[in-house]
Amino acid sequence: MNTNIKNEIIKDLIKSNIKNSNDLVFFKRRIAKKYKISCPKNIELLKWYYSYLKEIKEKPSKHLEKLLKTRPIRSLSGIVNVSVLTKPYPCPGKCLYCPIEKGIPKSYISGEPAVERAKESNFNPYLQTQKRIKMLKDEGHQTDKIELRVIGGTWSYYDKDYQLFFIEECFRACNEMNLKKPKTKNNKKQKISIKNLKKEQKKNEKAKHRIIGLSIETRPDYINEKEIKWLRELGVTMVELGVQSIYDDVLKINRRGHSIKDTIKATKLLKDSGFKVLYQMMPNLLGSDLKKDEEMFKEIFENPDFKPDYLKIYPCAVLKEAPLYKIFKNGEYKPYSEKELINLLLDIKKEVPYYIRIQRIIRDISSEKIMEGGVKITNLRQILSEKMKKEGFKCKCIRCREVRENYNPKEKIYFFCDRYEASGGKEMFLSYENKDRTKLYSLLRLRIPSDPILKVLKNSAIIREIHTYGEITPIGKKKIAPQHKGLGKKLIKKAEEITKNEFNLNKLSVIAGVGVRDYFRKLGFKLKDTYMVKILK
Ligand code: SF4
Ligand SMILES: [Zn+2]
Repeated sequence: MNTNIKNEIIKDLIKSNIKNSNDLVFFKRRIAKKYKISCPKNIELLKWYYSYLKEIKEKPSKHLEKLLKTRPIRSLSGIVNVSVLTKPYPCPGKCLYCPIEKGIPKSYISGEPAVERAKESNFNPYLQTQKRIKMLKDEGHQTDKIELRVIGGTWSYYDKDYQLFFIEECFRACNEMNLKKPKTKNNKKQKISIKNLKKEQKKNEKAKHRIIGLSIETRPDYINEKEIKWLRELGVTMVELGVQSIYDDVLKINRRGHSIKDTIKATKLLKDSGFKVLYQMMPNLLGSDLKKDEEMFKEIFENPDFKPDYLKIYPCAVLKEAPLYKIFKNGEYKPYSEKELINLLLDIKKEVPYYIRIQRIIRDISSEKIMEGGVKITNLRQILSEKMKKEGFKCKCIRCREVRENYNPKEKIYFFCDRYEASGGKEMFLSYENKDRTKLYSLLRLRIPSDPILKVLKNSAIIREIHTYGEITPIGKKKIAPQHKGLGKKLIKKAEEITKNEFNLNKLSVIAGVGVRDYFRKLGFKLKDTYMVKILK
């Protein structure tokens, strides 16, 4: 790269008012796109910075120097997320608020980062996966543990051949990261078979880039016994359910096309099969109001029919591409004010239990896309955290407790076990945390199912999730903090004891992502159907 471009980049850097490492990541992405280069490393930027300053005879800013000298923050939850978007395809839903944009899967709109990446790759799953991994790598992330997120409309509505092709290509992309040239395939020409998928999955068990979790998004009325079996064949471990509201009248007005009964049934089927369940909720829907929305979240936290593991809260926004726009223009729909929405979100955060992770509270939509109707604040999290500080409370959700950069290897940690009833079964949320539960080091979700439909899970307890936080540890390498070594293993041991001693069961099954099967093998589990199973002695 010639000096002029380097200087241009540095001038931009100085102008950009970069406050923290997060801003720096966004800056690097922007630069990479603008100049069609790979993301520069911090150390490179620092070098260019010094030589530019020498030229203009100025002194470096202490702040920028410090930022560029620190190694980029690794993936703080211990894994990296790779989102891949499916091709444009119809959806059976007719939801009022859902945008329809030509050439993009329903419910998504251009401008969202994942959508833009997908468009560049012509929605090819192989290219999307590899590009994203490469990008994360260039940004300094460790990319050997991948949580793959398949997004776009209603997954279960795509034809099965396409689904097979899509997932197989994502696995193959991870397995072939070392190839110099990508070997893409076309799903119309490729011979699609479950055998090919299994082959790539098997390879991925030992690959450098392992898929340790796989999620899809779908509608509650599409979850049934057959679908559950199919999702397991594909390797899915988490399902994002478009629940949106728990009131039938609100669902009806918004033309969701399913009832709350479907949500309750889907939640039970999924949990009893070991899946992690994420609810996508939409406050401010037509027909709802602040009080109703407040009660809705209380109910999903307290009523055993719901109690999701993860939550995404996307307040309804009026987009020009959605039918709601017309209703809004006629004055028949009124979005909450900024203040109202913030207060609602604060109430939710006050009530959220320890075992839920609030994944997102706003969508990645650029504010120009949101018409007059809807809150345009994109730094909502920041505003909320300032308000919480002022009011003197902390959100108890998993995301806010994850230890992240506060990882302290010397800190004393304690074992906790939260028990609750959910969808007819018994849930135990086991964790290692600091004394006041503000720092979460490791978690495990154990379920005694009520009525599992899969034979392999009969008379078995199920581990639905296990996760250790802190800096990502490359597969096969030593842990960074020896004092906290093996927290995951300790939790599995506890789960085995509870299963045997309290529930008199001698079988423990794990819905393990393909990339973690090996980990469980070493602990005495064996692959049975698509689960890792251990007979307890
Ligand atoms: S089900 Fe989802 S994708 Fe389909 S119309 Fe409704 S919101 Fe849009
Ligand atoms: Zn939180």
